[in-house]
Amino acid sequence: MTYAFEKLIAEGVKGLVPYVAGKPMSELEREYGVKDIVKLASNENPLGPGEAAMQAVTNGVGDLGFYPDGNGFELKAKLSEHHNVEPDAITLGNGSNDVLVMLAETLLTPRDEAVFSQYSFAVYYLATQATGARSVIVPALDGNHSTPLGHDLEAMVAAVSERTKLVFVANPNNPTGTWLDGESLKSFVGSIPSHVIVVIDQAYVEYADDPAYEDAVPWIQDFRNLVVTHTFSKIHGLAGIRSGYSVSHPELASLLNRVRQPFNMNSLAQDASIAALGDNAHVERSKDVNKQGLLALQECCDHLGLPYIPSMCNFLLVDFGKPAEPVYEALLRQGIIVRPVGNYGLPNHLRISTGTLEQNQRLISALEAVIKTND
Ligand SMILES: *Cc1c(COP(=O)(O)O)cnc(C)c1O
Repeated sequence: MTYAFEKLIAEGVKGLVPYVAGKPMSELEREYGVKDIVKLASNENPLGPGEAAMQAVTNGVGDLGFYPDGNGFELKAKLSEHHNVEPDAITLGNGSNDVLVMLAETLLTPRDEAVFSQYSFAVYYLATQATGARSVIVPALDGNHSTPLGHDLEAMVAAVSERTKLVFVANPNNPTGTWLDGESLKSFVGSIPSHVIVVIDQAYVEYADDPAYEDAVPWIQDFRNLVVTHTFSKIHGLAGIRSGYSVSHPELASLLNRVRQPFNMNSLAQDASIAALGDNAHVERSKDVNKQGLLALQECCDHLGLPYIPSMCNFLLVDFGKPAEPVYEALLRQGIIVRPVGNYGLPNHLRISTGTLEQNQRLISALEAVIKTND
């Protein structure tokens, strides 16, 4: 007898499809039998974690019998120093994804709306829909704009209604790599009514090196309705351990604390994050590797006549001018995993993360071969 599970689920969840992650290397190995795989699909740090973070994990293993510090005292103290904010402005998450979900759970009901841009991070939609609230997706800037596929801030302000409770902005944004200058973004935040919480997702903040870019954390002094999220998954190379956080007004942080799972950040994640915060050398090294990687990728695309979106992140969104799935498949057969973005409504693009020199070289050679045989 069949059982109608589909009928049981919450309204908002009905239309959802699960998040599509980059293909794990082990899966490619199982399915295609290829070895020596290069994964440039999930914007991970090709250097991995720094020595200090790895040592902290090793040291912490003996304490795994204990529950973690549910309040993350030490990590919050470090972050408080790092950002020059009060420790109680910080909310820790099992990845920043967890904080984004907490924000949605705390603020949204089926009567409410969340506003975000087309081609912005997939989790905003998932977190919003799961609460039964309505996602108001604002069309992105077109291909001819100076930041093609980027956020249209004016249109986003216009999309805010009485029902809006949350606005998500990724700066810089994934999967496009586009970014907003500090001045424009700050005046955007100022023009959002105070009954709306604005989330600025800074997952790639450490890579953003344009002088017009601004870290939004200090703005929480000016805007009580502002939340800024960060992650240890990207430049710190700790995607596997799950660690992220937000900085906001302490009262908002205390509201998030009501829905937060009591031990949502595991002890190894806390230990590793503390160590990573103190390891500037690793961050600098990672930035350098990324800069070289972006240059190499851009050069390759220029050479092959493939347009791409200017990026301030650790990836490049490349336009193949026709469905990119065959290129993705051909790269897989060569043991290289990049990211199709058809689920973002970008079937002609692939998102390619930067790797080490060697990995970039393999990607570039493979891409050249694939493009030549496909033409
Ligand atoms: C990678 C990424 C995150 C980080 O997610 P974690 O849950 O911290 O791993 C958040 N926002 C954006 C835009 C990202 O690309």
